[in-house]
Amino acid sequence: MNKTKDNLNPSDSYDVIVVGGGHAGCEAALAASRLGCRTLLLSLNLDMVAYMACNPSLGGPGKGHLVKEIDALGGEMPRVADQNTLQVRTLNTGKGPAVQAMRAQIHKWNYQRTMRLALEQQNNLTVREDMAEKVETDESGIKGIRGRSSAFYPAKAVVICSGVYLSARLFLGDHRYDAAPGSLTPSKNLANCLKELGLTLERFKTDTPPRVYRRSIDFTNLNPVYGDPDAPGFSIVTQKAPDQQIPCWMTHTNPKTHEIIKNNFSQAPLYSGLIKGSGPRYCPSIEDKIYRFTDRDRHPIFIEPEGTDTDEVYLQGISTGLPPDIQTKFLRTIEGLENVEIMRPAYAIEYDFAPPTQLKVSLETKAVPGLFLAGQVNGTTGYEEAGAQGLIAGINAAMYIENHEPLVLKRSEAYIGVMIDDLVTRGVMEPYRIFTSRGEYRLLLRQDNADLRLTEKSREIGLIDEIRYQKHLVKKVFIETELARLEKTKYNPGGPIEDFLSNHNSSLPKQPISALELLRRPEINYPAYLVWENKKVPDLPRGTLRELENQIKYAGYIAKQGMAIEKTSRMQDKKIPEDFDYRRAKHLSTEARQKLEKIRPDTIGQASRMEGVTPADLSVLLLYLERPEALGQANNNYKQTKENEIEEN
Ligand SMILES: Cc1cc2nc3c(=O)[nH]c(=O)nc-3n(C[C@H](O)[C@H](O)[C@H](O)COP(=O)(O)OP(=O)(O)OC[C@H]3O[C@@H](n4cnc5c(N)ncnc54)[C@H](O)[C@@H]3O)c2cc1C
Repeated sequence: MNKTKDNLNPSDSYDVIVVGGGHAGCEAALAASRLGCRTLLLSLNLDMVAYMACNPSLGGPGKGHLVKEIDALGGEMPRVADQNTLQVRTLNTGKGPAVQAMRAQIHKWNYQRTMRLALEQQNNLTVREDMAEKVETDESGIKGIRGRSSAFYPAKAVVICSGVYLSARLFLGDHRYDAAPGSLTPSKNLANCLKELGLTLERFKTDTPPRVYRRSIDFTNLNPVYGDPDAPGFSIVTQKAPDQQIPCWMTHTNPKTHEIIKNNFSQAPLYSGLIKGSGPRYCPSIEDKIYRFTDRDRHPIFIEPEGTDTDEVYLQGISTGLPPDIQTKFLRTIEGLENVEIMRPAYAIEYDFAPPTQLKVSLETKAVPGLFLAGQVNGTTGYEEAGAQGLIAGINAAMYIENHEPLVLKRSEAYIGVMIDDLVTRGVMEPYRIFTSRGEYRLLLRQDNADLRLTEKSREIGLIDEIRYQKHLVKKVFIETELARLEKTKYNPGGPIEDFLSNHNSSLPKQPISALELLRRPEINYPAYLVWENKKVPDLPRGTLRELENQIKYAGYIAKQGMAIEKTSRMQDKKIPEDFDYRRAKHLSTEARQKLEKIRPDTIGQASRMEGVTPADLSVLLLYLERPEALGQANNNYKQTKENEIEEN
């Protein structure tokens, strides 16, 4: 692809500026430019675009679902991941389809290069190295960005995707200094500017494990973990898992390791009180694990490759804030790591984030029209969470420019919808990561049906390219026609189907039965049925047959969840006007009134998920929405009461 609107002159005006070339920023910039906006991506160091600051992997339950949804909406992360996969597996294959999820080890540096090339080759997009120091505004809204280079970049909308860089501070034991991942400069001026613009910032912390030399590990007694050659890629356009997959390896901590760590708790910045910010409870450091799970005498460690052309490997499961000499000491108690040499010591990092209740569901800030925030700056953790938010913020920045309605996904439509609703409605007490358990309609939000749920939505706004759309259509049309064919195919008692059923220990029909009904039985599997039928299927996107089988086997449960959504959706989707005056809704409880005023939910559904808003408050709110004149009445009563109070005083 060639650039059509090359735009390297900083005095030119942009529609959208994206600050930060991390996982959120890349998706935001690509989405806005693909939707036709003149877009500038400003990042601190262009060699660090799409840098994986922690584990060289993508996916897992919830996270894998997000990557599939990013693909379904036309994002880049899944395609880039598939081109740079070292190993891929489907997790939870022994469980139901709702929680099965792909996880891939990624060639870290090649991932960055591929993503950077996608940015460089994108029409309407200019990539530029500079540090954003100030978002300039006037009474009409956003004016642009002032860079550290002193250049001014005019724009109508800005998406901040600055990750953990706002006022970041690194800790190696009790040694600390101001720095961001990759030893880059933290963003202090941008943090101050966001505060001046009326945003509140708070502190979180996270840590990372040590990276070590592969050649210093003794693999003799370690268990390999192999990939799955049949796992589909993240993207619907990928047809094949990599031919040669590289194994990961497994080892464990032991009581000796734990003893060294316990004896040095006082040197871990979180325990010594040096770090005040909360860390991710679901991704704890090894100190946290030993402190919290006292009954466990071992914790697993996965040794993961970072690439095919590097000797550096990643130790998943052992992130720590302890000093480097203690890291070496406890690592050397672990089987296989007796002579291990550290290449990059583990570190902890503390940083500012903007509590996400300051955002609308579109990810636009409530304080500044045209200013959007996405990624770890919103208090989340994870590449996938960041990428998904970046995509939505990039789309909605483009919608803002065009004066169109924002793209808002419901909780019943996507994990992206679940995540954004959780963030803007409930806020975060610790770094937020997605889990399938966060969704109430898990069976509807399967990884294999992400494109069936979302691709048409993205097509409507113009983000889906033709290749991706055609793949989606092939899958969709095949599933629809095949379901209809199976329903029409009938078998009579005593026919040849009985041999097939007996071979699968399945009861024989007493009356005519359709193939669809037979396939609902747990013991009858669809690929085996196709073989018996001697039917060839066309070349299909990977995962199509599994999705078809899920739709057959779980039809009852899926229909039930669909009915539950329909039942509640009329009330849930009821819009609350942006300027609704909660102070005049007299019969709300004081707690609900204060919280509603602060969060300003978009819909009754969003209000219902807020802490402190009771069913009684919702009935009152519905009453006011249905009879707006009651607000006036309430207002008169309120005014009268106030006047009486003043008179009495
Ligand atoms: C130590 C550590 C451990 C982590 N552990 C895990 C983990 O175990 N599991 C997990 O899922 N995730 C983990 N993460 C989180 C993961 O790395 C992030 O969630 C993810 O990278 C966030 O993506 P992002 O795009 O929001 O920000 P980032 O990937 O941090 O990207 C931010 C980008 O913004 C740029 N930038 C910042 N300020 C400016 C500015 N003023 N001007 C221009 N450019 C700017 C930076 O250069 C960078 O390119 C960890 C992160 C760190 C740092």
